[in-house]
Parts: sequence; C-alpha cells; structure tokens
Amino acid sequence: MTLRFCRYCDEPITDPDDAVHLWHEEGMSGPGREVWAHREHVGLVEPDTTLVRLLARVLIAERRRP
Ligand SMILES: [Zn+2]
Repeated sequence: MTLRFCRYCDEPITDPDDAVHLWHEEGMSGPGREVWAHREHVGLVEPDTTLVRLLARVLIAERRRP
C-alpha cells in the first residue's frame, strides 16, 4: 500500500477508512497522482489550484524578463 497524504494538513493518512479520494492530479511528466484527504478535512481542502498557480508563475516569469 502506498502512503497517502492529506491535501489539507499534509499528514499521512494511516487509516484507510479515514482516506477520502478527492481527484486525480495530472503530472507534468509521468502518470500523475491521486489526491487524498482525511475524512474530517475533506470540506476544508481548496479546489485544485495547480493550473492557476502554474499560470501565475509563468506570468511572473514573463514580467521579470528584461
Ligand atoms: Zn488531514
């Protein structure tokens, strides 16, 4: 069994009954990964902002270019 980490608190989820699958995250290279959260933390997890963060990083990089 692979260790699952909670998206909200970053702690490992040791009890399988406590693990709630949120979504599948696409990897930049490779198969991507599954995103999990503790049952009690599911409602606290922010929606997937990976693309938004990525876009922001690109925009910042563009702006820093001379
Ligand atoms: Zn948690």
